[in-house]
Amino acid sequence: MTAHTPRKRFGQNFLHDQNIIANIISVISPQKNQRIIEIGPGKGALTTPLMQHTGKLEVIELDRDLIPRLEEKFSRLGELTIYQEDVLRFDFAQLNATENSLRIVGNLPYNISTPLLFHLMAFLPLIKDMYFMLQKEVVDRICAQPGNKEYGRLSVMLQFYCETESLFVVPPEAFNPAPKVNSAIIRLIPREPSSINTTNKGALSTIVTASFAQRRKTLRNNLKKLLSDEQIKSLDIDPGCRAETLSLDEFKKLSALYLETKTLETKTA
Ligand code: SAM
Repeated sequence: MTAHTPRKRFGQNFLHDQNIIANIISVISPQKNQRIIEIGPGKGALTTPLMQHTGKLEVIELDRDLIPRLEEKFSRLGELTIYQEDVLRFDFAQLNATENSLRIVGNLPYNISTPLLFHLMAFLPLIKDMYFMLQKEVVDRICAQPGNKEYGRLSVMLQFYCETESLFVVPPEAFNPAPKVNSAIIRLIPREPSSINTTNKGALSTIVTASFAQRRKTLRNNLKKLLSDEQIKSLDIDPGCRAETLSLDEFKKLSALYLETKTLETKTA
């Protein structure tokens, strides 16, 4: 088989640093009988140790040129199921997984990482945990806390769905070709359904998006079409503050009040 030339359009930066690979596998701690799905196995840098630990793996890979390599390389190591698909369109429900069972991992193509994370949130009840390599800057934004300049829509929305933790940084030299920026490993653990289902996701998304629309403006300004000053104050939130100082709970309260106001408006219209 001829050598595979990395394709930029598929975000192909292949891991080759064995210490980093061992560290990633150690934090994932794959066990036999677990249902692990790897997104973007590429040439198999993570696939090999994952298969060695579990003897069984399911992978989703878009680049069809890589499929025969994966088939040939891994048939000896155990049971590998390959889905040659775009993960952004992949229906995880078709896997017939039991609740809270799927472990999803991958060194993700950076160009699709944010839409992919939101795509995965639709299948959250099936997922036990997720470990991803992303650009460090994106990991910092996802894990940022209120008051931090990285804190924004991505932080609030993903922290609403999952507990998030940045585990360690991976330098460009660990990849071939080397990307221009640092990467980091993030762990995402879905929150209890009871904490997610009590909030209307559409309303939360509307409030969070509007609140951060113009970061330098006050909450009063950004939310003026959705909630009045008095309404914001009734939640013990200062309308003169900026969105970046608000906690997830405060965004949940604002979204509940917004939903209530909208529902009342619809009823009286
Ligand atoms: N896991 C390998 C490694 O660590 O060396 C490869 C990681 S590389 C950053 C990203 C992988 O995702 C590539 O194999 C690429 O072909 C694949 N990929 C890119 N876009 C994809 C998509 N939309 N759906 C599924 N796989 C995709």
